[in-house]
Amino acid sequence: FFFAMATKPHPQRILVTGGAGFLGSHVCERLVDEGHDVICLDNFFTSQKDNIRHLFGRPNFEFVRHDVTEPIRMEVDKIWNLACPASPVHYQYNPIKTMKTSWLGASNMLGMAKRCNARILQSSTSEVYGDPTPEFHPQPEEYRGNVSCIGIRSCYDEGKRAAETLFFDYHRQHGVDIKVVRIFNTYGPRMHPYDGRVVSNFILQAIKGEDITIYGDGSQTRSFCFVDDLVEAMMRMMDDDTGFTGPVNIGNPGEFTIKELAELIIELTGSKSKIIYLPLPQDDPLQRKPDIALAKERLDWEPKVQLREGLAKTIEYFKGLDLGKYSKPTNHTAHRNSEKWKPAVKQ
Ligand code: NAD
Repeated sequence: FFFAMATKPHPQRILVTGGAGFLGSHVCERLVDEGHDVICLDNFFTSQKDNIRHLFGRPNFEFVRHDVTEPIRMEVDKIWNLACPASPVHYQYNPIKTMKTSWLGASNMLGMAKRCNARILQSSTSEVYGDPTPEFHPQPEEYRGNVSCIGIRSCYDEGKRAAETLFFDYHRQHGVDIKVVRIFNTYGPRMHPYDGRVVSNFILQAIKGEDITIYGDGSQTRSFCFVDDLVEAMMRMMDDDTGFTGPVNIGNPGEFTIKELAELIIELTGSKSKIIYLPLPQDDPLQRKPDIALAKERLDWEPKVQLREGLAKTIEYFKGLDLGKYSKPTNHTAHRNSEKWKPAVKQ
C-alpha cells in the first residue's frame, strides 16, 4: 500500500477527452469516485450533458468544451484519449473531420503528454483489423488487418490506425508512456439511442414494437462487451506500471449471430416486434471476435457480465430515456446531435 502511494501520487489530475460520451462518462464517473481531479473535455458532437450531469456538482470534476483538433494547454498527470465519433452514422457524417479528430486529436494529446510527462491511453478499435480473413478469427493483436483505405469506413479505420502509429512513434522517439487498447463492440447505459449500432437499434425497435431490421441474413457474428467490464479493463491497463504499452484487445469473446441478438432482445423486452432483413451495407465485416489472451495474461482481466444481464440493464436505461431529447443523426442534425434545447416548463 505504501509503495503504491509512493509511486502513484493521489489524487492525480486526469484529462478525459470525449469524456461526455458513452464510454467517457463511465470513465469520468469512476475516476471521480476514486477521488481524482478529473477534467472532462468534449465538444458534444455525439453526446449530451445528461451523461455527465450527475458529476457537475462534484468538487473534483470540471468540464471544458473544446475540440481536440485544436491545441490546448493544461497540466495533467494522465490523459485518456477517447474523443472520436465511434458509430458509422456519426463518423460518416463528416468523414474528413473524423480523420482529423482521430489523428490530429491524438497528435495534440500526445504533445501534451510529452510536455507534461503524462501517461496517455488511446482508445483504439477492433476496426483496425477491418474485415478479418478467416484464418484470423478470433483476431489476435499481431494481426495486421484487412482494411480498405478508400472505403466509406476508412475515415474511422485508417484514422484510428494512423493514431496508433503516432502513439508508437511518440513512444519510440520521445519515450512517452503510452497505453493502447483496441476496443471491440461495447454496449450499455448511456449509449446514444440513435447511434445506429445494432444493440441500440434493436432495443429501440423492440421497445417501440417496430420491425427489427437485420442487415444481411443475420448470420454475421458479433461479440458484445458490457461497459462495466470494458471500463475495468481500461482502468487496469491505465494503472499498469510494468511498461506494457499494448496494443491489447478488450472485448467479450462470446460470439452471437445478429439474429440471436435480435431474438434475445425481443424476449427480454417482451416485444411483439418482427424481424425483417435488409441488404448488407458496403464494407460491413462478416465476423468479429476478440482474442483476449493477452489481456488475460497482462491485466488479469476477463469479462464477467453475461449478454442477457447486460442487455437487461441496457433495456432498463433505454426505457427510462426521454427520446424527445435526442435527435436522429441526419445530414442536418448529426453535428448538433446533443440534447435538443427545450424551453423551461413552469411547474
Ligand atoms: P461516443 O460517441 O459516445 O463518445 C465520443 C465522444 O467524443 C463524444 O462525447 C463526442 O462528443 C466526443 N468528440 C467527438 N469528436 C470530438 C472532437 N473533435 N473534440 C472533442 N470531443 C469530440 O462514443 P464511445 O462509444 O463512447 O467511444 C469512445 C471512444 O472509444 C472512441 O474513441 C471510439 O472510437 C472508441 N471505441 C468505442 C467502441 C464502442 O463499442 N463503444 C468500440 C471501439 C472503439
